[in-house]
Amino acid sequence: MTDIKYNSDGLIPAIIQDTTTKKVLMLGYMNAEAIQKTNDTKLVTFFSRSKQRLWTKGEESGNTLTLISIKNDCDNDTLLIEAKPAGPTCHRGTDTCWGDINNESFGFISKLESTIEDRVKNASGESSYVASLFEKGINKIAQKVGEEAVEVVIEAKDNNDDLFLNESADLLFHYLMLLQAKGYKLNDVVSVLKSREK
Ligand code: AMP
Ligand code: ZN
Ligand code: ZN
Ligand code: ZN
Repeated sequence: MTDIKYNSDGLIPAIIQDTTTKKVLMLGYMNAEAIQKTNDTKLVTFFSRSKQRLWTKGEESGNTLTLISIKNDCDNDTLLIEAKPAGPTCHRGTDTCWGDINNESFGFISKLESTIEDRVKNASGESSYVASLFEKGINKIAQKVGEEAVEVVIEAKDNNDDLFLNESADLLFHYLMLLQAKGYKLNDVVSVLKSREK
């Protein structure tokens, strides 16, 4: 990459893309030294214009970006860097500097709802937990929601956050199945909540 065109400050913008999800994570600036360090350490390193020094993303937070590849664009004035993020890339805690974490979470929940729907429709017997629970009927699903809710209550009283979060995930997952069995999506519940908003 000898033909890189740096701007008058000796910098080139670098678009950082998640190598797995292909989401654009952030934009930073690099100088020749930052590119060199990124290649040498395999950790994406910028030249911070505010700090006026080399800045390895994640140096404080631990949310590093591991280098996969660097490409320059058609006229060599912008870099596209594919990287593997160790955690949320934005310092505000979102995956991307443009990402609203709620929308992203909701996107994931929607995908999970579709997966549940798919398992029910294309049930192939024993292989799917979702399909086998649906075969047992709505009362059994509702009972499971009750059981998981009790487990959440129990874990809420303890100090083990790991168990609490895991039981919470179990509850949400079974609740999504119950909604599916009743012919609803989480969005229908959100609509009710929105209608209550003053
Ligand atoms: P980090 O590099 O993740 O250890 O974060 C160190 C500091 O860099 C943070 O306190 C922010 O000021 C800044 N920072 C981190 N991530 C970003 C980002 N994606 N965009 C802009 N500034 C950031
Ligand atoms: Zn260009
Ligand atoms: Zn950000
Ligand atoms: Zn559970």
